[in-house]
Amino acid sequence: MSDITVGVVADIINSQYPEATQDSWDNSGLLVGCRTDKVTCVLTSVDITEEVVDEAIAEGCNMIVAHHPLMFRGLKRLVGSTGEQRVIMKALQRGIALYASHTCCDKSPKGTSARLAEMIGLQHCSILIPEADGSIGYGVVGELPSAMAVNDFATYVKTKVGCSSIRMSGDAEKISRVAICTGSGSEFVSDAVKSHADAYITADVKYHQMAEAGERIVIADIGHWESEQMTKQLFYDLLSGKISKFARCKMSQCSNPIKYI
Ligand SMILES: [Zn+2]
Repeated sequence: MSDITVGVVADIINSQYPEATQDSWDNSGLLVGCRTDKVTCVLTSVDITEEVVDEAIAEGCNMIVAHHPLMFRGLKRLVGSTGEQRVIMKALQRGIALYASHTCCDKSPKGTSARLAEMIGLQHCSILIPEADGSIGYGVVGELPSAMAVNDFATYVKTKVGCSSIRMSGDAEKISRVAICTGSGSEFVSDAVKSHADAYITADVKYHQMAEAGERIVIADIGHWESEQMTKQLFYDLLSGKISKFARCKMSQCSNPIKYI
């Protein structure tokens, strides 16, 4: 019988991505379940949807560790009338604990932007928007292994990240310095410009923001889910490194609500 508990798993994630560093509007941490509940298998995921809970049930997992939290707003009833309510009800009924590591993971030097920088081979990286003592913060800026033309850069990023299309604006002779902010990073375009990056990889950039920013920097909007799909691997690797003889699996499905037709 496993002596791993929800609290043990939560503490491992928290030690790498401290909940205390999350933004005030965020809801990272243990969302459903008791710290003393036993855990035999964890499913790591980007989102917690009904399909993801179903996959956890099918795989015999009794805990989900995900990037995007639930319950950003207070819930006044649980009657199954929204997807979020159904997820929570099913998790409670089936004894599945839910944990989310969101902005604390985004801002970690071992978090989402850092991993994306690694995936595209950025070198000499530093934090794009440092906060606190400078050891954490949103985004990363660094140098590509070699300078490339804009079209080659787009193809390179698509291949490395594994996304089918990118929304691009702006132009440059060559791209060598690249800023990254995974997820919704449109508010940091000016920080990317200030960092002397030739291109800024992020997601959820609006039409007018792309048009306006395109005069100063190449914007590569790779998609929100695509930019954070590696979180299931991040949590998987973290747990694998800390607990041996313990089952864990990665979400096999695509939880991206956006389809490219
Ligand atoms: Zn996100």
